[in-house]
Amino acid sequence: MARFARRSATDGLEHASAARRRTRVVVDSRSRGTTRAVVDGAELLAFCSNDYLGLADHPEVVAAFVSAAREWGVGSGASHLVSGHCREHHALEEELAAFTGRERALLFSTGYMANLAVVTTLLGPGDRVLEDRLNHASLLDAGLASRARFSRYPHADATAVRRHLARASGRRALVATDGVFSMDGDVAPLAGLAAACREVGAWLFVDDAHGFGVLGNSGGGSVEAAGLTPADVPLLMGTFGKALGTSGAFVAGPARLVDTLVQGARTYIYTTALPPAVAAATRIALRLVQQEPWRRARVLGLAQRFRRAAVGLGLQLPASPTPIQPVILGSESAALDASHALRARGLWVPAIRPPTVPAGTSRLRITFSAAHDDGDVDRLLAAVAELQLPVGGA
Ligand code: PMP
Repeated sequence: MARFARRSATDGLEHASAARRRTRVVVDSRSRGTTRAVVDGAELLAFCSNDYLGLADHPEVVAAFVSAAREWGVGSGASHLVSGHCREHHALEEELAAFTGRERALLFSTGYMANLAVVTTLLGPGDRVLEDRLNHASLLDAGLASRARFSRYPHADATAVRRHLARASGRRALVATDGVFSMDGDVAPLAGLAAACREVGAWLFVDDAHGFGVLGNSGGGSVEAAGLTPADVPLLMGTFGKALGTSGAFVAGPARLVDTLVQGARTYIYTTALPPAVAAATRIALRLVQQEPWRRARVLGLAQRFRRAAVGLGLQLPASPTPIQPVILGSESAALDASHALRARGLWVPAIRPPTVPAGTSRLRITFSAAHDDGDVDRLLAAVAELQLPVGGA
């Protein structure tokens, strides 16, 4: 075979290691929110959604969705800047601005697009972007696409950020971090990052996809839980597809910066607005986040119940105070084997492998929901105990 034969478009896929190959599971139906899924005729107890508060099937959220679809139709019909920006979108933006204590909020169709918008619109050549190594792919992609000088700092290391910023000589610097890290469940050192940014006038941008609705007394997320103000964290992103149980995202911040996004963010301008019914359902979910704090208490309590017992089984869990509880197993095959063994016991816990997580840290990513109960957690623990996972982690 010629050594320099042309590569076909599928070469990389053919050669991808079987243990890293990604596949999809078809869910035939669901019940009890996202905690029960029927797959291939079998009902699985699922610990793999980000529906942390169990709002995805809340009757009031569903009713708001259905009634708005009747009133507005399904599609928004156009982008926000043409004719797709409906009263429901506008009201949701105002409610999010009030809830987050920021001047203005702007809706996006996905969190991925929101992150691209902020970083690529507010920064450009000559600026600096600093990101945590374990940030979500969308934030990392945004940093690369911005054409600013882009560096990644060691995970959760505010001291490294301070050092980087002291050397920064760009027009502007932005530090971007996940509030809650999506695959580890730990919380960013937001107070330290905010202090480092304040010293040099850098912007701090928090992607709170996994904290919004879950952390903080009123559900304001990791920023509220850290006791930080909008002056400390001028730019906040939250998604609706997780704790709020719907879909989409928002960016909240100073009116001037939000307007800059409206004027220039390509992922805002050149795409169809969310269906108005999604905005209507999200408005109700946002109200429930505030009115039903028991959901936060419940999901966090379930995660702690799991942690206490798992530590008793000898598993070493990373420090996560959130509904995301990873069990790090090391190799791809160890994580896949554990996931398959749980599946055989009627439990659905996904194996997360590189490149989503660094090589050697493949894991089970267990997520809890307020729609789970103590019995569900105990069933998971009993199954995990049977697997005899390597104690002490990877
Ligand atoms: N940021 C983080 C931390 C996420 O986990 C995700 C989704 N997994 C996103 C952004 C993207 O959000 P969306 O799914 O709405 O595109």
